[in-house]
Amino acid sequence: MEINHRLSLKDAKRIVVKVGSSTLTHENGRMNFTRMDRLAMVLSELMNEEKEVILVSSGCIAVGMGKFSLKKRPAAMGMKQALAAVGQCELMNIYSRLFATYNQTVAQMLLTKPDINDEIRKKNVLNTFRSLIDLGVIPIVNENDTVSVDEIKSLMMYGDNDTLSAVVTRLVEADLLIILSDIDGFYDSNPKENKESKLISVVDTINDEIRNCAGAAGTMRGTGGMVTKLDAAQIATQAGANMVIANGSDPIIIQKILNGDDVGTLFVKKQV
Ligand code: ADP
Repeated sequence: MEINHRLSLKDAKRIVVKVGSSTLTHENGRMNFTRMDRLAMVLSELMNEEKEVILVSSGCIAVGMGKFSLKKRPAAMGMKQALAAVGQCELMNIYSRLFATYNQTVAQMLLTKPDINDEIRKKNVLNTFRSLIDLGVIPIVNENDTVSVDEIKSLMMYGDNDTLSAVVTRLVEADLLIILSDIDGFYDSNPKENKESKLISVVDTINDEIRNCAGAAGTMRGTGGMVTKLDAAQIATQAGANMVIANGSDPIIIQKILNGDDVGTLFVKKQV
């Protein structure tokens, strides 16, 4: 049973990949260029294999802080938004150059949740996604911090691009959502608190027992922890997409997931 679910990932055609700040940055908050480059290489390779890829990427505040050599996040919301605006520009500049070395064009899509809740806006967003996919471009999605403070707030509480990536997965009817994190997958308890925790390979149903395993984020740079990742899994699997949480320390893991290897945690899609 388990093996079949894993092997079915080989057939995934439209894939959404989400990377969090903890994957894109070093512990000191500076950009991790090696990972970003590996990510650009692997995703460009998938495009060459005629897959359709959408990247959901956080990290703009971290990049903005780096631009001004700030060690601490500023307290004022407007200042955080300003750093996000500076950082988003720089982040896209870095992605654009890295992807260009693999001959891959990327596009920026900044969204807010109301954009996807409103029928007309949703249609417009979907049109853009479809046309970019037709053009062979990789859309790079982030929350639009200029008009929405949901994600910035979540850096202090929780919530995150985790759920945004699941909403995008549902919107574009992707086959698979891959969430890259700073941990190997979903464990039966928080491994940062309990050394005996065991990695769960496959989750068929997100019930109370599974929810009780999820703890909050372990690092300052991380955001939603496993709580928002389970929310994302609920949205994605109900929309008929499989979801995998895996360690983003080497993005080559994306190829292993698509090869059907037993890495990370697979949340099995519901039949729709
Ligand atoms: P990211 O930025 O990669 O999304 P987060 O910090 O938001 O990372 O989430 C990953 C963290 O969630 C892990 O490093 C771990 O400390 C924490 N966590 C809590 N409960 C669990 C669990 N059951 N399994 C795995 N990780 C868990």
